[in-house]
Amino acid sequence: MRHRTIIEPFRIKSVEPIGLSTEVERVELLKDAHYNPFLLRSKDVIIDLMTDSGTSAMSAHQWAGIMEGDEAYAGSRSWLRMENEVQDLTGMQHVLPTHQGRAAERIIYGHLGGPGKIFISNTHFDTTRANIEFSGATAIDIPIPEGQDTALQHPFKGNMDVGELDRLLKEHKGHVGAVILTVTNNSGGGQPVSMANAEGVAAICKRHGVILMLDCCRIAENSWFVKHREEGMEGLTYREIAQRMFALADGAVMSAKKDAFANIGGFLSFRNEALAEACTNLLIITEGFTTYGGLAGRDMEAIAIGLEEVFDPHYLNYRIRSTTFLGEQLHKLGVPLMLPIGGHAVYIDAKKLYPHIPPAQYPGQALVSELFRLGGIRSVEIGSVMFGTYAEDGSLKPSRMELVRLAIPRRVYTQSHIEYVAETFEGIMAEREQVKGMRIVKEPKFLRHFTAHFDTLP
Ligand SMILES: *Cc1c(COP(=O)(O)O)cnc(C)c1O
Repeated sequence: MRHRTIIEPFRIKSVEPIGLSTEVERVELLKDAHYNPFLLRSKDVIIDLMTDSGTSAMSAHQWAGIMEGDEAYAGSRSWLRMENEVQDLTGMQHVLPTHQGRAAERIIYGHLGGPGKIFISNTHFDTTRANIEFSGATAIDIPIPEGQDTALQHPFKGNMDVGELDRLLKEHKGHVGAVILTVTNNSGGGQPVSMANAEGVAAICKRHGVILMLDCCRIAENSWFVKHREEGMEGLTYREIAQRMFALADGAVMSAKKDAFANIGGFLSFRNEALAEACTNLLIITEGFTTYGGLAGRDMEAIAIGLEEVFDPHYLNYRIRSTTFLGEQLHKLGVPLMLPIGGHAVYIDAKKLYPHIPPAQYPGQALVSELFRLGGIRSVEIGSVMFGTYAEDGSLKPSRMELVRLAIPRRVYTQSHIEYVAETFEGIMAEREQVKGMRIVKEPKFLRHFTAHFDTLP
């Protein structure tokens, strides 16, 4: 018989209690946190959908690996295991361990960047952009136009605009630091990149003699979409699809806090020896020796095991289907969403949900507060709180979109947790017209979303 339910392909061996609270208590907790989810304590959160980064549940096999971790300064067994795993997956000979993704980014983009240099990506993730701009270089995003329309259905909304890439490489000849393909495209909601698009990008880079880097944080999730949505790919395994995509690139950057199920870690990998050597010098100065790079042996062990586990077809099927399940439940309730649903998160269009709240009153932040008040759910605003700037006259220049992200930690929540989230949205929909906008009471100069204080408007 065929079952409708896609079950979690694991059972629970160790549990972590969730602190339950009442709505009355949460109203006070919200006030104490100045309506900023980053100022809430995790013990007061019921379902934490703030990020999928470093929040994965590790497997029994990974925990066993942690006990096996070899903490030798040089030539650790755990390093050799991780190096081997990354070499096999990426097909790249040179591997550098780092403590997380942004450390790898600082090393490679610091080396390739500098004033006058240009970097081009389908979309730079925020730490990628920050590291490029910190070096003095410029970061240009060229997603396909379809990727910018939230309601439009398209199988590979994470793709790069190849026509624009060719034009930019001609225009900036001799000044391009690298082209970066981010798979899946995080900033667009974990939207996938097709193999055909990656091949097109690689061919153009080769023709222009420009380095192609793969930001491969979610390469396994991307492989699921390629296998199921792209013609000619259905016969390959998820790992083979990933390997084929790596084969197109000159180097890769990874945050192991994503698809490697690790709580910390990352790496850089390269085909080119000279590039690897230059980065190794920087690695030793700021991260650590070449056989640990800021990681404990036990972390490297967990990463090596995680990189194998993530390509399990049952896991990937469950992972993508369960993210889609949440999206489908919300869609049925009429919640305006970014479509189609991506790999690791569901994005809600708060501007459409609360049309009566103007961007200058932060509709996304209002939804974040409502989700916590009604369900103890923690989410993140990705809109004018995060990206808005002020004009000369002090008025807000809003972000292009007012989104709220529900990121799903890997292997952490069960279907009933997700159903609870969907139920919370019944309340959100019922009370949508009464919700008030918000104002910022206090904010720092940079990255204000982390520490700003808010209040509700009367
Ligand atoms: C998380 C992430 C990074 C940065 O990695 P950290 O481990 O958080 O430093 C870079 N690129 C993408 C696409 C990411 O999702």
